[in-house]
Formats: sequence, structure tokens, C-alpha cells
Amino acid sequence: MKDHGPDAVCVPCPDYEPARAREALERLLEACGGLDWLKPGMKVGIKANLVAALKPENAATTHPVLLRALVELIEERGGEAVVGDSPGGLFNAAFLGRVYQAAGLNAAGLPLNRDYRTRELELPEAKLCKRATVTAWLLDCDAVINFAKLKSHGMMGLSAAAKNLFGTIPGTMKPEYHFRYPNPADFADMLVDLDEFWKPRLHIVDAVLTMEGNGPTAGTPRPMGCLLAGQNPHRLDLLCAKLTGMEPATVPTLRAAMDRGLCPERLEALELEGPWQDFVARDFQIITQRNGLQFQSLMGGGRRGALFSSFLNRCIAARPGVEKAACVGCRKCEQICPAKAIRMKHQKPVIRRRACIRCFCCQEFCPKGAMQVKRPPLARILER
Ligand code: SF4
Ligand code: SF4
Repeated sequence: MKDHGPDAVCVPCPDYEPARAREALERLLEACGGLDWLKPGMKVGIKANLVAALKPENAATTHPVLLRALVELIEERGGEAVVGDSPGGLFNAAFLGRVYQAAGLNAAGLPLNRDYRTRELELPEAKLCKRATVTAWLLDCDAVINFAKLKSHGMMGLSAAAKNLFGTIPGTMKPEYHFRYPNPADFADMLVDLDEFWKPRLHIVDAVLTMEGNGPTAGTPRPMGCLLAGQNPHRLDLLCAKLTGMEPATVPTLRAAMDRGLCPERLEALELEGPWQDFVARDFQIITQRNGLQFQSLMGGGRRGALFSSFLNRCIAARPGVEKAACVGCRKCEQICPAKAIRMKHQKPVIRRRACIRCFCCQEFCPKGAMQVKRPPLARILER
């Protein structure tokens, strides 16, 4: 539950012009309780979204101008800031160096994380993920601010505040987590466990330039023109779902948070501040994950309903599919696939459907956007 202030705040920010962006960020922070908790000498970890070595204009990563503004605000209060993330891939200086460079963080002069240790932890309060290996740099911080990016997402539908903390799992271990939690509902429960463990002081979402379509790395940049913030990631994501036209119950992290009483079912139950209605994107291109569970009640629940649900899941679940013309045969999808479901044939990936756990790692890490989320015809009919 929220500590104080509104559940979510929206402040217009038309672009990344530094002075305008900083002014918008200041107004945003003021509206959701400010940085009054920040005492001189405190070390604040800013968990950005640095999903891949992509330029800011690709709209996949938290924009460096906003990160710069937040670092300045922290330093002006006598705090020490450090910015970091662990995208898929190695968690080391060489790999992260490339990501920092591409995402414009070096050019912005940001204090970047150089601590690549990991630590194994017990999470006794967790519902599902009772043990986790996490990146250690955030454990050494006195407070965490989660600075996410608003994007569509192959597996989770929505990438915003709650999903962003998956970046606290070292990149090399992410495939193992996909394998441990292949079902989107379980994966979402694991993410909510991580959110509850880290409990960032504040969640901010960069929705100035969002990503629609084939997100979270190869979608289309889409200007939205606002910044969003809140103290509860799920309540903030409920607003993000509204802005992008996603049905909240189809976003697995929202469903998991609702089931735990961390988030209401309806946006109307939230206390919202700012002109968020001006930023609702009615034709935002989303990736819909229809789940058989949504149709279980049609058969009255019980064993019959469960069988029907499982059958529907097989028929309607979205799957990865290759756009052969765009594929350059780089084999990244084959290497990243945690289920070893991809084999190359004539330099194009072939997916073994029975082995695929639908984690969409191949789609997320395809550098050419050639691996896409495909919805079977029945799913499209039910959608209508
Ligand atoms: S990662 Fe993308 S471009 Fe590379 S082989 Fe796979 S589908 Fe083709
Ligand atoms: S083929 Fe793609 S979606 Fe299927 S398990 Fe492999 S990486 Fe995940």
C-alpha cells in the first residue's frame, strides 16, 4: 500500500531537451513526495532499463538526459548516485561498457555501476522465488530508485515499473529464470517477489518516447510526451496499461499483484494526479497474450474447465516466429534460447514448438527484429 501522496503522477514532458526534461522531472518528484527522505551521504542506486546496446532514439532504454537530471537532483541534496542494470548477456565490464556507450550514458557523464559481483540470497517473504541470485551493486545502496521505460513486451505484454526489476538478476542467469518459470503467471509472480524484495523508494517511468509493437528491443518508437511516477510499481503500471490500451487482467504482473492485494483491479480505484487523460494512446500497438485461464469459467471451472483451459492455451498462445527476409543468420536466438528449442537450418532459425517455453528471449535479443511474436488465427478471432 502507498505510504503517502497519490498512487501515480503524470507530468507532461514533450521531449528530451535537458532543461525542459529536468523541470518536468522536478515537478514529477515534487508531486509524489519529493526526495525529502534523501539525507546527505546516502548512496542511491538508480536501476535504469538498459535492455541492450541500443541508442536512445531506439526507445528501448531509459533516456540519458532524464538519468542525468535525476543524478543532479540527488547530488544537489548531498547524496551519491550510481546508475546501472544487467541486461541479457555477460555481467562484466566489457559487455556493460558497450551497453553504456550505445545508450548514451558515457556521453551524459553519468556515475555508472562498475561492480559486477553477484550474490545468492534467501527471500523468505517471497511467494514463489524463495532463493535468487542478484546483482550485488544495489545491495550496497541505501535506497533504490527504479527508472523504467514504457514499452510493449513479448512475454509480459507490458514493460514498465514492475518488469524493470528483472534487471537485478545477472544477465547470464536470466535464461535459467525463464526455464524455472516458463508459465507467464509464475514468471510474473517471480517478478512481483523481486519488486517486494527490493522495495524501491520510488518508481519512475520514462514515457516521453515509448516503444510499441515488437518490444522490448525491436519495436517502433512512439512519442507519448510524459513522465510517470509512483511509490507502488503495480499501481503505476495500472496507469501505464491504461495509457497503452492494455486490458489490465492480461498483463501477468498486474494480475499477480491484484491477486496479492497489491493493486486494485480498476484504475478508478487509484488516486491519480496530473493530466494523464491527455496521453492515452488509443491505437498503441500491443502484444496481446490471451491466456486459457481467462476462458476457464466458460466450462464452469473444475477439471473440465482446467482441461479446456489447457487445450485453449495450446491453441491460442502467442509464439515466436521468424520473418525470414529480415533474418541475417547471426544465431543469437539459437544461443540465447534457454530451452534449446532453436536449430539453424540453411542459416535460418527453426523452432521446435514442443520444446519452446514461450519466454520470447529470442524475440527480445534478435538484433534485426526478425524474431517476432505471432498470434495464431484462433487467438485473433477470440481477441475480436
Ligand atoms: S537472432 Fe534474429 S537475425 Fe539472428 S538468426 Fe535469430 S532471427 Fe535471425
Ligand atoms: S524459441 Fe524463443 S520463445 Fe521459445 S524457448 Fe527458445 S527463446 Fe524462448
